[in-house]
Amino acid sequence: MDCIFCKIIAGEIPTEILYQDEEIIAFRDIKPLAPVHLLIVPRKHIPSLDQMKESDAALVGRMVAVANKLAKDEGVAEKGYRLAINCGSEGGQLVPHLHLHLLGGRKLSDRLS
Ligand code: AMP
Repeated sequence: MDCIFCKIIAGEIPTEILYQDEEIIAFRDIKPLAPVHLLIVPRKHIPSLDQMKESDAALVGRMVAVANKLAKDEGVAEKGYRLAINCGSEGGQLVPHLHLHLLGGRKLSDRLS
């Protein structure tokens, strides 16, 4: 298994897990771009958003719901936050395992760059 997020999910890389259930885990980004920068990751290895199947739609919806809960837990829900999924090289995806970024705790740029 050569996927860093699969290794975190398998417990092979020690990481503080902020949320987990049978389908999803969440932890802090190692190089945070904002005071709150979490990654919400499905346990299932889906290489990118582009490769999700129709049958994964409920799982991706649950990732958003988990992010919403974590935004409240982290105290950023009221002022606002951003969810982002990078897809493919031009989309800025570095880790080839689907994940949702939750960014908050500062005023983010009005535009995505
Ligand atoms: P992306 O560019 O959307 O693929 O984002 C991958 C993110 O994973 C980057 O923001 C990295 O900082 C983050 N990352 C890589 N390795 C780890 C790790 N071991 N623990 C937490 N975050 C990581």
